[in-house]
Amino acid sequence: MRFFRVTTGVFQAHTYFLICEQTRQTLVIDPGEEFDAIADAIQKERLDVVRIVVSHAHLDHFWSAGALRDMTGAPIHLHPADDFLYTQLPEQGSWFGFDLEDAPPVEVYLKDGDVLTFGREQVRVRHVPGHSPGHVMLYNETDAWVGDCLFASSVGRVDLPGGDGPTLINSIEERIVTLGEHYRIHPGHGPSTTVARELDDNPFLTGRLPGMSRR
Ligand SMILES: [Zn+2]
Ligand SMILES: [Zn+2]
Repeated sequence: MRFFRVTTGVFQAHTYFLICEQTRQTLVIDPGEEFDAIADAIQKERLDVVRIVVSHAHLDHFWSAGALRDMTGAPIHLHPADDFLYTQLPEQGSWFGFDLEDAPPVEVYLKDGDVLTFGREQVRVRHVPGHSPGHVMLYNETDAWVGDCLFASSVGRVDLPGGDGPTLINSIEERIVTLGEHYRIHPGHGPSTTVARELDDNPFLTGRLPGMSRR
């Protein structure tokens, strides 16, 4: 499996493309603000997008889900506990001065333990609530795509609707760190990292900082 990311918009959110190289079938995580950049990547790499996974329903992670669905026909996947955010895309846009339309209906509801195939590849789904109630991460044997749970030297903010600090730290400690120190971590914003590096450096995990970040 190969993957790459495109970073877009005022929020500088990452859209990840997970690719089966034999078949070109591709799973897209978090289609963000700039659909043109996402569509360009798909055309340039000749990707056959078969799944659209929304890690959590903050606008910077599903801004272009509808446009990508229209382009590819691929179904949109979401955990049901984030439905209340998913159905508020126009409201979320208005908070930041953007005029957005409703996203199309979710077609696949995710649950903890699901296995998602694309071509001859697969990733697993883990429910990691805290930043939002329905946040999920995807992982394989070496890499984890963790959305806004865990960042290099930081963690997701918990002051948005449905956020909860102790739940977030529990998700990170019980569901991400336990993958193993060698795991590579690919967040929704900023640089990639590893579990080992975060156990060493991340002030939210080493107990040096009370409270939560603002991202
Ligand atoms: Zn978020
Ligand atoms: Zn985000």
